[in-house]
Amino acid sequence: MDVRLYRGCALVDHATRSLVPEGAVLVAGGRIDWLGPAADAPDPGPGAEVVDAGGTTAVAGMVDAHSHLTLPGGSHWIDRAADPTDRLLAVAEDNARLLRQAGVRWARDVGAPVRDGRALSLTVRDRWRGRPGYPYVRAAGCWLTRTGSLPAQLPVEVTDGDGLLAAALGQLDDGADLVKLYMDGPDRDTSPFTADEVRRVVEAVHARGATVTAHSSLLPGARAAVAGGVDAIEHGFRLDADVARAMAAQGTALVATLAVMESWESFATTTRLPRFASAEGRDALAERRAAAHESVRLASAAGVLIAAGTDFGGGSQRANQLGWEVETLVAAGLEPYDALAAATVNGGRLLGEPGAGVLEAGGPADFLLVHGDPLTDPGSLWRVWRISW
Ligand SMILES: [Zn+2]
Repeated sequence: MDVRLYRGCALVDHATRSLVPEGAVLVAGGRIDWLGPAADAPDPGPGAEVVDAGGTTAVAGMVDAHSHLTLPGGSHWIDRAADPTDRLLAVAEDNARLLRQAGVRWARDVGAPVRDGRALSLTVRDRWRGRPGYPYVRAAGCWLTRTGSLPAQLPVEVTDGDGLLAAALGQLDDGADLVKLYMDGPDRDTSPFTADEVRRVVEAVHARGATVTAHSSLLPGARAAVAGGVDAIEHGFRLDADVARAMAAQGTALVATLAVMESWESFATTTRLPRFASAEGRDALAERRAAAHESVRLASAAGVLIAAGTDFGGGSQRANQLGWEVETLVAAGLEPYDALAAATVNGGRLLGEPGAGVLEAGGPADFLLVHGDPLTDPGSLWRVWRISW
């Protein structure tokens, strides 16, 4: 059995939400056999590898709770969804490599183009299952929208609640782990589906052992989705205190994707796209960014479970940028401990995977060693030195 002792890495003490220097992690056969103060570390035995991890912090393998594995991101992210299938499959391979290098163990895919009658993310998930070095994937299948809400090459479009229910069950028939409803409609001021229509989907999907999440960047759709009982809200860029309270009360999580707007802000100087580079574009983004940060603060204050996502591929982010989301959550007002939890254990809770995003004895040996202290310096998550899996 492969035995390895990582000696000298700092460990996060969850009871005190603080960092304890000079720890050690003993790994045997892909599981964490022991972790604690380096001075108390058991003898790993002959033949074991001892890794000098001095000056690093051991962080649980991260969970990107909002990703699009088959798409590359960048400033032309929407155009890329029309690329040929072979190209998108190659992009997914690149993304798997980028995820691992960035310390992301789990990817929750929340939307992929349909190819050959099935969301391409499901093909990728099935292909990667059990392959060493690849992320663990849970995938939603395709975006389900009211007709006219997204560019027509992306979603499965429906025109009413019956259509939404049929489309949701169709995704489960295709093998989706969860269902993603698109709750921004063609009309910004009106939810594309009513709370009753959402609730019918939630009940039917729950009855089949899966979950329902809702894209929402506007308030009307967030209200209807939460009133309909969805399990999570994606983005949630415009929540109010009432919606946040309702989410906390019924256990609806928020998947924050704030760094998308940091990426857009960078496009003001790296591109000439008017949406980002024009004065009006910059003003609109600043307003939107402020509202999104306020929404995260409202959710946090209400006690909503907050998970972190990049939105890579389906937004402009790239697959190795989850650290950016943690940094931005801190900039929005979260404590660094809570922002790190969003990218680790909270993502695991969202997935219903108890070992995901957790570093503990008996658990999977899925962690990364970063150079620095993520509890005072979230930017240290960019400085990945070593991956344990
Ligand atoms: Zn997305």
